[in-house]
Amino acid sequence: MTTDFIHGYEVVIGFETHAQLATQSKIFSRSSTAFGAAPNTQACAVDMALPGTLPVMNKEAVQCAIKFGLAVGAHIALRSIFARKNYFYPDLPKGYQISQFEIPVVQGGLVTFDLGDENKTVRLVRAHLEEDAGKSLHENFMGQTGIDLNRAGTPLLEIVTEPDMRSSREAVAYARELHRLVVWMGICDGNMQEGNFRCDANVSVRQPGALLGTRREIKNLNSFKFMQQAIDFEIRWQIQEIEEGRAVQQATVLFNPDTGETRAMRTKEDAADYRYFPDPDLPPLVITPEWIDRVRVEMPELPRVMAARFVADYALSEMDAQALTQNRDVASYFEAATRICGQPKLVGNWIMGEVSRRLNLEGVTIDKAPVKPDVLAWLVRRIHDGIVSNNSAKVAFDHLWKSAAVSTSYSEQVDGVIESLGLKQTNDTQALETMIDCVIAAHPKNVAQYRAGNAKALNALVGHIMKNSQGKANPQQVNEMLRQKLVRTADEI
Ligand code: ADP
Ligand code: MG
Repeated sequence: MTTDFIHGYEVVIGFETHAQLATQSKIFSRSSTAFGAAPNTQACAVDMALPGTLPVMNKEAVQCAIKFGLAVGAHIALRSIFARKNYFYPDLPKGYQISQFEIPVVQGGLVTFDLGDENKTVRLVRAHLEEDAGKSLHENFMGQTGIDLNRAGTPLLEIVTEPDMRSSREAVAYARELHRLVVWMGICDGNMQEGNFRCDANVSVRQPGALLGTRREIKNLNSFKFMQQAIDFEIRWQIQEIEEGRAVQQATVLFNPDTGETRAMRTKEDAADYRYFPDPDLPPLVITPEWIDRVRVEMPELPRVMAARFVADYALSEMDAQALTQNRDVASYFEAATRICGQPKLVGNWIMGEVSRRLNLEGVTIDKAPVKPDVLAWLVRRIHDGIVSNNSAKVAFDHLWKSAAVSTSYSEQVDGVIESLGLKQTNDTQALETMIDCVIAAHPKNVAQYRAGNAKALNALVGHIMKNSQGKANPQQVNEMLRQKLVRTADEI
């Protein structure tokens, strides 16, 4: 395990993450959870906390919690309790938030991730269901503040870790893995700009071996870049405080991306300040073992399991396997193409290279790529068969990307493009031989260098031939023939 010491201090970090659950409706009402609607158009009487209304549990949100619990190997409580967390804030019309306190639905669990060449495991304390609050709008109100309750009652899963992380790097790697996992499971869309996955980082420092130091909690980190910056700033700030003889006060702080600094927002409340008590409006949440079993059989293969399988079955490197399991669509695209052409390494390189480049350029996700896995598979097969060079295949790929899908078979589409653009490799030995002879005659200096033992001089000759053939010669074949020829001619002299 890595432990980073900064000026002799050990860093300790624990995370609380709010993942917005991807349900159609809210956790206790039937209002829509869709983002971006006009203020207060998606807030019903329950969300507005009108007297006499009662919350009704959304089954889908519970199902998401079960999925998450199974994904991290946690205990799923067959009976858990909703509690009222009381505090006053204008965007909280009931005056309390419905959450879970003493008995959360998901208990324990582990999140394992790669950290360079090592594995790191972070223990989860719990994951509980709760409702989100509304939003205060400070803009465009002529000095007044407006309240938008569209977000009030949106289902959240709050995922809490033990204080197991020892550096900002570890913390960000944990957050990335958790993000990959909830998106993979389909329980959260992972959109961080819209605040659908936000992390609170609890940070403290201590002398090695000492008791835990006093923590400060950095709220609402919604980008991995800011997360790293905020934690790094916070660590330096706390060490400086201690070095200068001041004690760190427990506090809730905000990160300002413009200054790169964290600043105290309020002193931290204790649990007692919230006067938690079981919500009398909601019965205990009961989950049957049968329900858990039904969810279990529908669980997708988990990303790390899939990555290990890619290494074992397709002989991919760990790094390639990680990259190809970043999300489920990329992974299934990879497997679909590989199944057809049987060239995992080449397919992987193409997805991480040309396909990704094109997707980024046009801002589309792989499931919307106009070049379907079947088409890529046939292109890769033609590369493998020596029909097109890798470079010419890029030209064909560009054309396939731009041309609308035609009704012919996938292989015909690929072959048609190769044919019509004249991208076929010259495998014709006679033609190659003539070309090679010309180049040998025209570059006696390179020939002499090669014969004098400079292996690199051969590359120069191959380069000339590739250029003369407008990229259509098969480089392996040219290499082979050229080498034989140079030896042969040397013997003949
Ligand atoms: P609260 O009741 O204030 O929410 P918790 O005990 O639930 O506090 O802890 C919240 C988070 O803070 C957890 O992720 C926990 O691991 C982390 N944490 C607790 N103590 C420390 C500490 N001294 N340094 C860093 N993180 C801590
Ligand atoms: Mg907490």
